Amino acid sequence: MKVIAYAEHWDGEFKKPSYETVGLAREVAQAAGAEMETLVVGALKDKDAALAELNKYGAGKVRYVADERLQHFVLLPQAEAVAQLIGEVDDFIFVAPHTINGRSLASRLAARYEGGMVPGALNVPTFEGSDLLVRKGVFSGKGFAVIRIRSSRKFVTVSPNAYGLREHPGHDMAVEEASVSIPEALFEKVKVVDVRKTAGKVSLTEASIVVSGGRGLKGPENWGMIEELADLLGAATACSKPVADMGWRPHHEHVGQTGLAISPDLYIAVGISGAIQHLAGVNGSKYIVVINKDPEAPFFQNCDYGIVGDAFEVVPRMIETLKNRKG
Ligand SMILES: Cc1cc2nc3c(=O)[nH]c(=O)nc-3n(C[C@H](O)[C@H](O)[C@H](O)COP(=O)(O)OP(=O)(O)OC[C@H]3O[C@@H](n4cnc5c(N)ncnc54)[C@H](O)[C@@H]3O)c2cc1C
Repeated sequence: MKVIAYAEHWDGEFKKPSYETVGLAREVAQAAGAEMETLVVGALKDKDAALAELNKYGAGKVRYVADERLQHFVLLPQAEAVAQLIGEVDDFIFVAPHTINGRSLASRLAARYEGGMVPGALNVPTFEGSDLLVRKGVFSGKGFAVIRIRSSRKFVTVSPNAYGLREHPGHDMAVEEASVSIPEALFEKVKVVDVRKTAGKVSLTEASIVVSGGRGLKGPENWGMIEELADLLGAATACSKPVADMGWRPHHEHVGQTGLAISPDLYIAVGISGAIQHLAGVNGSKYIVVINKDPEAPFFQNCDYGIVGDAFEVVPRMIETLKNRKG
């Protein structure tokens, strides 16, 4: 049996979900006494430095496809490349990040290999004989389930920020440059024509701190204080669904059942009532702080710290305190 970690990269650079994936895969391999290999598909920007960083988390043997055409993730060619790297092995555990790309890749491969898959593992899966037991959130994060994978080919994706960053030093890195042969037609079906990055912003799914605003903020003109608080904390900004629907904030900031599911270390909810559909996307957070002027707001039943108060008084005081501390 072998453990195969898929280290996703974005525009040639690894990010936290890949390090978490490699670290968790390494622990699974150690528990099983199995060999592990890490797959990297698409050209890296600074290959040596990037792979050395990845190896801190236990990458070990790396199979790297330095193909420029695979640098931006497109599902069909990426899945074909990964399948060619895996080959016709019968017994393996494939571990990928629970990102949009990672989970679409893992589920496609699971179908192709007729393997069982659990998306969104919260910690290191354990073994019972040759079965793998994986813990994940269910019912929009209201409960947990332990799911048994019985097939010999197993697929798991790792929830960002759940397992965390754990270094596994002492594994010699061996990089094998592998080549794959992807039919041109697979590149033709979907093409990346333009990539635009938001400069200087913390990515919402990877952020360890998120400051989020709801309808209680009254209008888009009041988001300055949310952004300022986020900047001071090195946090990303998010919002509730109605806020995105009304166009106060961009849709990619919407968290919840129909938006992004996030699990930061700290989630600060400002002027958000705490509807179950909102909680579904944020209750994987380690700590939740709620600021709401209504002491009966449902969010107070689901938070670690609550401040009953007017956001327009509380948030500026938080900003002032943080500035004084930084000063
Ligand atoms: C199928 C379905 C899917 C959905 N998916 C999502 C989803 O993914 N994400 C999501 O967020 N919602 C989702 N919703 C909507 C959800 O049910 C709620 O309507 C929504 O979350 C409410 O947003 P809100 O808390 O910003 O607004 P409101 O419910 O209007 O709450 C505003 C809060 O701000 C407080 N407030 C007002 N003024 C102040 C002030 N000055 N200072 C401090 N607090 C103040 C109020 O007391 C109130 O609690 C979904 C609904 C459905 C039916």
